[in-house]
Amino acid sequence: MADIDQENAFPDPIYETDEPILYSVKDGIATISMNRPKYNNAQNNQMTYALDAAYCQAVEDDDVKVIILKGEGKHFSAGHDIGTPGRDHHLSQKRTSMWYDHANKPGAEFQYIKEQEAYLGMCRRWREIPKPTIAMVHGACIAGGLMLAWTCDMIIASDDAFFSDPVVRMGIPGVEYFAHPFELNPRIAKEFLFLGERMNADRAYQMGMVNRVVARDDLEAETYDIASRIAVMPRLGLALTKQAINHIEDLQGKRTGMEAVFGMHHFAHAHNSLISDDKLGGFDAKSMADSQRKK
Ligand code: ZN
Repeated sequence: MADIDQENAFPDPIYETDEPILYSVKDGIATISMNRPKYNNAQNNQMTYALDAAYCQAVEDDDVKVIILKGEGKHFSAGHDIGTPGRDHHLSQKRTSMWYDHANKPGAEFQYIKEQEAYLGMCRRWREIPKPTIAMVHGACIAGGLMLAWTCDMIIASDDAFFSDPVVRMGIPGVEYFAHPFELNPRIAKEFLFLGERMNADRAYQMGMVNRVVARDDLEAETYDIASRIAVMPRLGLALTKQAINHIEDLQGKRTGMEAVFGMHHFAHAHNSLISDDKLGGFDAKSMADSQRKK
């Protein structure tokens, strides 16, 4: 099959900002803030690569001991961008992995290569950042948003935060970074996915997915207090501790399990394309949001 021109198959993105990520450093703590509040921080490639660049900057800066990831506006993250004017999944990117460009590839190859690089690859890369990372979550943390929070070492949530992965509705077995059975115990992970419903912050805390739940007004103060207490620890001690725990998780099957499920995930995308000509099973951002509201 000949390569195709995917770039002409989708409209040109219209970016609402040149700064999809904000970055600042104070007292040894880097703050990385997703800055697409108009679209509830939906993750397009413009944001993905800006986020990666911000993480790299924090890693390179010896003054940074801890990294906080947060979102501007009402929500942490609505997930991957599947419908804003800035949707740009079809464009070539300057990649961070050894995968080749997806943009002009046909059939299932397009999505498989794109997600190897931008979703699975990027999330693993962020999980391995050798400095402690803390997700400061308020409001919605949905689907692709979970991937951003889960790749962090700790999650501090406000009492209005909620978590969901509704993609089973699209016929897909969860988001690309399949950490569900590690973030939740397997039986709760099944419930979380089968129902696709919102899990509130209190239950997420009871299940061990988040470290603390605090009042919304206290979220920032609590998160920075924890970060500042971590920041006084020795850099190498923190890096080795993180590496140690990640390594044990991988021995428990996190990495190899994720590899296997990524194949199932792409079988589902391909199946959707075969039966409906739509990788997402006919859902867009609005119909997914509507289906959540109806529950
Ligand atoms: Zn996917």
